[in-house]
Amino acid sequence: MSKEDDANARHDKVQALIIGAGPAGLMAADALASAGAAVLVVDAMPSVGRKFLMAGKSGLNLTKDEPLASFLSHFHPQSPDLLRALTDFGPDSVQSWARDLGEPIVTGSTARVFPKAMKASPLLRRWLARLNQLGVTFEQRHKWVGWEGDTWLFDTSNGPRRITAEIVVMALGGASWSKLGSDGSWADLFRNKGIETTPFAPANMGVTIRWSPHMTPHFGTPVKGVKLMAGGVETRGEWVVTSQGLEGGGIYELSRALRSLEPATLDLLPDVTLEQISAKLRRPRGKLSISNYLRKMLKLPDISRALLMEWGRPLPVDADLSALIKVLPVPIAGTLPMDGAISTAGGVDWSALNGFELKSRPGTFVAGEMLDWEAPTGGYLITGCLATGRAAGQAAAAKLNF
Ligand SMILES: Cc1cc2nc3c(=O)[nH]c(=O)nc-3n(C[C@H](O)[C@H](O)[C@H](O)COP(=O)(O)OP(=O)(O)OC[C@H]3O[C@@H](n4cnc5c(N)ncnc54)[C@H](O)[C@@H]3O)c2cc1C
Repeated sequence: MSKEDDANARHDKVQALIIGAGPAGLMAADALASAGAAVLVVDAMPSVGRKFLMAGKSGLNLTKDEPLASFLSHFHPQSPDLLRALTDFGPDSVQSWARDLGEPIVTGSTARVFPKAMKASPLLRRWLARLNQLGVTFEQRHKWVGWEGDTWLFDTSNGPRRITAEIVVMALGGASWSKLGSDGSWADLFRNKGIETTPFAPANMGVTIRWSPHMTPHFGTPVKGVKLMAGGVETRGEWVVTSQGLEGGGIYELSRALRSLEPATLDLLPDVTLEQISAKLRRPRGKLSISNYLRKMLKLPDISRALLMEWGRPLPVDADLSALIKVLPVPIAGTLPMDGAISTAGGVDWSALNGFELKSRPGTFVAGEMLDWEAPTGGYLITGCLATGRAAGQAAAAKLNF
């Protein structure tokens, strides 16, 4: 903001200011307005909840209906404040919240919970109607660009604007899918003020593989029924072979290990023991090609045989071949760019916070993906954002003595 802009900037005072209208910011607004605060929500984008709506395009996975201890174990780091927020508002609460908004929900066979409509728009519409009833006001095209003492500076479609507030909740998101609003530009502003942040890293991202031309016919093929292992974690989740590498839920579950390029291995037949495989491969191959032999003896699907040839060539014989089928090294070259990742790790350090309040800026709270935590897809992310948004909003309301 130039000096001239600064002089002309509109200056408003509000009681509670929420910056960022994703699920975390909206939940903070809900908690504050429910407590009786006058709430203004501002966002850089022309409309609210763009990433939330995008999440609904492939089925909005709101939460996972599993025991709390197991649910909590998927979050890293295991910050006590994060776990407390999730304990207060976990899978059961998220389901009740959606039902209370009048949105029917369904639980799939893998315990994932979705709105019956699958998309996010009906749920968001009902939620915004509730927030309107609570008196929450919204202003779009307000990009937060910095602080000047207690004043919050924004670039808006009508020029610069300055806002002061009794309390503020920041919920600016992570640093992926920047076209939906969360561009992570807040992190530099934080660092410039000496607020500790952990650098962003892709989470729930695809990985790159340098394929040989033999794999071209297999691009787009789903890989099912295998077990992928890295960094002491294993998953039976599905994934897809793409021209760039591997993508999908099974890959995302191992994000932390895979982005550090920890060695990954694949068990192509997780339900068959090494001894059983060895016994089957003791039968003579005759005139069969190795691929046909493996298909006949082990019923290995096409894609599994293709991956074995790709990553195990030249194939060993006898016992070594059986062992390779159980522990096939996966040569991961890197990760796909962070902007395409479903979410990001990193963000505001827990050490910079008292609960959800910035130690260096009392009265300023932080929520959602902006905080330094990560979790796999499967409803953990939205639940984490709703839970921290609610906890930050409630703490902010308490600070206002509501
Ligand atoms: C394709 C896709 C599918 C997904 N599917 C699921 C799913 O099914 N289940 C699940 O749990 N999670 C899913 N996620 C993740 C989930 O959508 C996010 O974790 C969640 O939206 C993060 O919420 P948030 O409120 O912290 O941030 P965001 O939703 O990113 O909202 C942040 C808001 O802050 C605004 N903002 C940013 N910077 C500024 C600034 N400087 N000034 C003013 N405003 C600013 C942005 O415009 C944005 O509206 C998906 C994500 C993607 C990309």
